[in-house]
Amino acid sequence: RKGSVIITGASSGLGLATAKALAETGKWHVIMACRNFLKAEKAAKSVGIPKENYTVMHLDLASLESVRQFVDTFRRSGRPLDVLVCNAAVYLPTAKEPTFTADGFELSVGTNHLGHFLLSRLLLDDLKQSDYPQKRCIIVGSITGNTNTLAGNVPPKANLGDLRGLAGGLNGVGSSSMIDGGEFDGAKAYKDSKVCNMLTMQELHRRYHEETGISFASLYPGCIAETGLFREHVPLFRLLFPPFQKYITKGYVSEEEAGKRLAQVVSDPSLSKSGVYWSWNNNSSSFENQLSKEASDSEKARKLWEVSEKLVGLA
Ligand code: NDP
Repeated sequence: RKGSVIITGASSGLGLATAKALAETGKWHVIMACRNFLKAEKAAKSVGIPKENYTVMHLDLASLESVRQFVDTFRRSGRPLDVLVCNAAVYLPTAKEPTFTADGFELSVGTNHLGHFLLSRLLLDDLKQSDYPQKRCIIVGSITGNTNTLAGNVPPKANLGDLRGLAGGLNGVGSSSMIDGGEFDGAKAYKDSKVCNMLTMQELHRRYHEETGISFASLYPGCIAETGLFREHVPLFRLLFPPFQKYITKGYVSEEEAGKRLAQVVSDPSLSKSGVYWSWNNNSSSFENQLSKEASDSEKARKLWEVSEKLVGLA
């Protein structure tokens, strides 16, 4: 049978390119888990994904209720779940004030981390039940976890501190809207959320890999400077960022190439190791990258897990 993969945020950028790369092989059915149904349908058609190889299902990660509804809808579809890809994200670098999810969490961490945290926890049962030989759960990370690159060290740097803002509910009312309890900074909130993604992947690995055989992985696909992720940035930035990445940092990758990389992490038998943060060299060969000190702090990962469980109603 075909493999069955859920990709969140498959309506644009990396998620769409990955959906296309997988669907084209004819070996995968892609469930595009998207907040905008029409946009996702149009996107799938525009890149030519064959109709029989995808299904669009509604998921808004900025609402815990929507996450739970998505899981119900998916289960009712009767499809197995072989691979889960947590890819969707928002990035709000120019926001002066925080905005919030339906449950009152700051939007970047609420969407990128907490929405995916609940989703992956609920879908673990479905992954466990799959009879697919290589079951995987992938959470897209970012360069902010790399200590071995310049770009990973550009301020404002990620810092979760002692998680006091997160423990307080991240609501900007009784507590700070930032995980570390500091002043709101949209670029930092995004980087913090990506560190959470990488810590969550490792904690899932420690808790569930041996027992379930599921492989957990994260990755930095390269800088895909033209995706919608930078839509909120100032126009000058959007103009200069792609050539800067192409010619100066040489970290630039096309959406198509990045999609192939994530598709490898989904399906390539040689990338099945669990607990790994994958990256690619300039010649596009994959390697196991090292994570920054904070992104590999197992004590912080455990604490993040416990606080996040409370916030999403699992504890
Ligand atoms: P895009 O903005 O193109 O894609 C993000 C996707 O997430 C969109 O499909 C968007 O939906 C979706 N999304 C946003 N909010 C929600 C929500 N509340 N519920 C459901 N879906 C949502 O960005 P990229 O393709 O660049 O980003 C994909 C991943 O790659 C992210 O995890 C990002 O952190 C990571 N990444 C990107 C890099 C880059 O250079 N671009 C570098 C490293 C990592 P909609 O289409 O409706 O807006």
